[in-house]
Amino acid sequence: MSILENFAENALQSMREKHIYRKLRLMVSPESAHVQMANEDGLKENILLASNSYLDLANIFELKQAMANAVLEWGTGSGGARLTTGNKTPHLELENEIAKFKNEEAAITFGTGYMANVGTISALCTKNDIIFSDALNHASIIDGIRLSRAKCYVYKHNDLEDLKRLLAEAVNANGEKLGTGSARGLIVTDAVFSMDGDLANLPELLKIAHENGVLLMIDEAHATGVIGKTGRGLAEYYGSEHADVTVGTLSKAVACEGGFVAGKKLLIEFLKNKARSFIFTTAMSPAVAFAACNNLRYIENHPDCVQKLQSNVKFFCEALQKFGLDVPQVPSAIVPIMVGDEEKTLQLSSKLEKEGILIPAIRYPTVPEGCARLRASLMASHTEEDLEFAARKIAETLRNLG
Ligand SMILES: *Cc1c(COP(=O)(O)O)cnc(C)c1O
Repeated sequence: MSILENFAENALQSMREKHIYRKLRLMVSPESAHVQMANEDGLKENILLASNSYLDLANIFELKQAMANAVLEWGTGSGGARLTTGNKTPHLELENEIAKFKNEEAAITFGTGYMANVGTISALCTKNDIIFSDALNHASIIDGIRLSRAKCYVYKHNDLEDLKRLLAEAVNANGEKLGTGSARGLIVTDAVFSMDGDLANLPELLKIAHENGVLLMIDEAHATGVIGKTGRGLAEYYGSEHADVTVGTLSKAVACEGGFVAGKKLLIEFLKNKARSFIFTTAMSPAVAFAACNNLRYIENHPDCVQKLQSNVKFFCEALQKFGLDVPQVPSAIVPIMVGDEEKTLQLSSKLEKEGILIPAIRYPTVPEGCARLRASLMASHTEEDLEFAARKIAETLRNLG
């Protein structure tokens, strides 16, 4: 073995021993509530309880056809970065539509939500600043913080007392407290936490941010199209003001690709000039920008699909409770079913797959060791029969594992 192969094999072996080694699954059908998976035993039909495509927009004929027409009109790729030749009419229309959907002054799009977080945090903060980050924030937020080189304080998950304590104590790299010297502050949090399905308390966070003179940034990746009566996100859900910076993705409920930031005009103009993951990369394909815009308009015109998703979540949580499982009524479309042990969770997930239910085991390092769980995510297109069947099988299989 070469030095490289030896290094890789040792690292992989240690992952296998900790049961954290991962393999890619192969889906041979489009993403929808029912899918076909390829595995060792051949092809298998499954109810999919693992998708981020919450509203199942990827399969709506008129939306697919509109995207196909956009390819015919605009071609397959954008040909350049947004600041060179890549900026086309669909990009402009998409950003206007996002601003409208989010009820903000303006918006900017990025290649992915990951790039939106990395580019925005590293543009807004420098090594003299202080960032306050929820302990369960998404990896792309963590990477953005690292790239900014700001001093970072991690507060306990959704623990606002801990956040206030850190705001009072924190110092930047030069030992300066907030409001003294050059230190500026940013609080950053997921809106919907991707492994627990719980929400950030936007009204309280806004209050704390204002009182301390720091900025608030929320990441609405799992909130856009999901939270609030018409899927506009946390501000709609709480009836509150917006955060200073709202990040989101077009790859989940919107069923396309791309990330965005929505906020004040000046923030967006600043990011267009400063965010490196916006500047030094090719613009998204104009057909994708067109489709994302068209899908967002569809959500605006069909708030009933958001409400169907929400009633499915309520139905599923109640069904799990009826079959004896201790699950919370989550406000999002992510339902965690706690197991604890890593290996048992894997067994549970693989037994359920044999029963025709695809529901992933989430384990270390995605969640802390000993907090392994099944993570169900729901779609508007699941039927009550799908959800009742899945809830019964999950409870049965878990009981049989002891
Ligand atoms: C999925 C996700 C992202 C990344 O979005 P992509 O468009 O898939 O890159 C960022 N933040 C959170 C909280 C997410 O769940």
